[in-house]
Amino acid sequence: MTKYFSSLNQDINLPVLKELRKKAVEDDVPIIQEDGLRFIRQLLTIKKPKRILEIGTAIGYSTIAMALFSDAFITTVERDEMRANEAKMNIEEAGLSDRIQLIKGDALEIDITQFKAVDILFIDAAKAQNIKFFEQYQSLVKEGGLIITDNLLFHGLFDEEVDSRNVRQLLRKINDFNEYILDRKGYDTVIYEIGDGMSVSIKKGGNR
Ligand code: SAH
Ligand code: MG
Repeated sequence: MTKYFSSLNQDINLPVLKELRKKAVEDDVPIIQEDGLRFIRQLLTIKKPKRILEIGTAIGYSTIAMALFSDAFITTVERDEMRANEAKMNIEEAGLSDRIQLIKGDALEIDITQFKAVDILFIDAAKAQNIKFFEQYQSLVKEGGLIITDNLLFHGLFDEEVDSRNVRQLLRKINDFNEYILDRKGYDTVIYEIGDGMSVSIKKGGNR
């Protein structure tokens, strides 16, 4: 990103978000990048969601941001106990406890029949599990609703020689997901080179 570009577009930097971003950076929590969040903010403005489901809360940065940038009721799932506790505190401090429901648990193990249909599903958890999250949760998304997935270009590592076998394996999994969603029937998907790489899949209606 050029210096000039990063000096533009300061619009998402509300004090509460600035503070949380600082905390996340200090503690090495991988939160959504600023331009990715700007993109989501505009999607929220266009889509006007009533319900959002997020997989992967971390400390609640993206959750709180989406609550501030929409009128939606948000359910968010986090399996890491410490992060979930911190998210709970941050959500309370932001005064958003009445619009954000935090569920502590593994998104692949909890009972999904407890969830209402959503306008937006945001998948931002364990990157190797993206196909599983998509398959498990996609039925909750309304026709015309969106599934947004983060980190699909994984720090630009697809263009590099990667020494670590684990990272190569992770990249293979992410690539599998990327091919899977672009091909998945019932959705119109585009992968954008925004933030760390984000997809938007629009759920088609009827038998289109
Ligand atoms: N959405 C956040 C960042 C999430 S980081 C933001 O942009 O602010 C990814 C988080 O997903 C981590 O905190 C990790 O603990 C959580 N996670 C990974 N796999 C999960 C799973 N199966 N169920 C619930 N949470 C999961
Ligand atoms: Mg992310």
